[in-house]
Amino acid sequence: MASYSSTFHFLVVSFPSQGHINPSLLFAKRLLRSGSCVTFATSRSALRQMRESKETFDDLSYAAFSDGYDDGFDIGKHDIQQFMDELKRQGPQTLGELIGNCLTEGREFTHVFYTTLIPWAADVASSFRLRSTLIWTQPATVLDIYYYYFDGYGDVISDAGINSSSPIVLPGLPPLTGRDVPSFFSPENHYSYFLPLMKRQFEILDEQGNSHKVLVNTFDALEEGPLRATRKLNLVGIGPLLPSAFLDGHNPSDTSFGGDIFQGSSKNYTEWLNNNPRASVIYICFGSIHLLTRRQRDELARGLLSSSRPFLWVMRDAGKNDEENGQLIYQEELERQGIIIPWSTQVEVLSHPLEGCFVTHCGWNSTSESLACGVPMVACPQWVDQRTDAKLVEDMWKTGVRANLKSGTIIEGEEIRRCLDLVMGEGEKGEEIRRNARKWKELAKEAAGEGGSSDKNLRAFLEEIASSV
Ligand code: UDP
Repeated sequence: MASYSSTFHFLVVSFPSQGHINPSLLFAKRLLRSGSCVTFATSRSALRQMRESKETFDDLSYAAFSDGYDDGFDIGKHDIQQFMDELKRQGPQTLGELIGNCLTEGREFTHVFYTTLIPWAADVASSFRLRSTLIWTQPATVLDIYYYYFDGYGDVISDAGINSSSPIVLPGLPPLTGRDVPSFFSPENHYSYFLPLMKRQFEILDEQGNSHKVLVNTFDALEEGPLRATRKLNLVGIGPLLPSAFLDGHNPSDTSFGGDIFQGSSKNYTEWLNNNPRASVIYICFGSIHLLTRRQRDELARGLLSSSRPFLWVMRDAGKNDEENGQLIYQEELERQGIIIPWSTQVEVLSHPLEGCFVTHCGWNSTSESLACGVPMVACPQWVDQRTDAKLVEDMWKTGVRANLKSGTIIEGEEIRRCLDLVMGEGEKGEEIRRNARKWKELAKEAAGEGGSSDKNLRAFLEEIASSV
């Protein structure tokens, strides 16, 4: 990427979760390639937890705001709703202090970037007369669904949220049903903070006007229609945001996001992976937030055992000995068939040539990492946008199958086994899925590589900033 000006100083503000830190830190590193300086900001506790994996570059500095949980947020103990309230209360003030301190030190910012879930960062930026841009960390399709909810389709989407099989037709998007839209529209949603927060986000985008761009962690070929689906939003695909070594090869030594906030020491699984037959291993991981219920873990264990295939299972909190997190049933049989670890370097695992299938919650990073590494998926969405991501994987990109819920709540062992057999088996369906997975891997590489659509889009965006300062 051409050097614009070494005097540019960008601020990248990330919501303090792994799923936001990974793509936004990668984005910060892409900005460094333009010859700019970047300050990466997230919460105090997340930044502290990142310390072991944090990478150092001359032009990258780190700074922190408070989310009100400076000693750390624990999903198993704390309440998300309270966390979001506290973040909204303390985040703007402490982010304002951070920007103010930089100004006092003579380190002015050229532009502010902020991730999904913290629209107040745009308000803080404008209080310092700084322009800001949203980095949307989910698919464009999901952004469009929220957009339409606040733009005339609220009843259609809410009604479908009640009946999971109700069709939803939204301009420019594939046909959806109630089970494909984010969980915040379902009557069981307990998180009342979310829709008002999204409403505020769209107000901000509206205030910024039609020509204002939103950078999306997707790429043109993957979501061509959704990137152009709405009248008002100007969405720009700049993804997938993955370490260079696994994608564009620009920098082979760039093998990590550099921001792991988990420190669980893992057994050496690389040696174990190397000892298993080609493309035979099932990788299971439900992301960095969601904890499976005891019953769901037991069902997953049953499915894995009945498939008789080797597996690598990331089970956060597996060692805790309370009722929800205690030993699995079939623990001994499981340990003979596979390995269970508290944390993996996921992109490394997915890019391992032995990876056969990813049983995933379909968080957007996991989904796009799997697409970019060419790994077929068994989609087991739990909440938020994961339901939409699973729909896209199964019906649009056809790189996996979506596991069905029994009685609306649990994926049974037999269903897991059925999906694994479909995806990894010799049948036509499995062949098609694996062919598509290979196709999307190539297209993702093409998009992110030098001269690819995402590379060009980001360059053009930075040129615009350069010409406006
Ligand atoms: N991740 C990882 N190791 C793990 C679990 C997760 O490196 O054992 C990373 C994963 O590669 C992804 C992020 O954490 O980049 C999780 O983001 P995602 O959007 O998939 O799910 P979330 O955690 O937000 O539900």
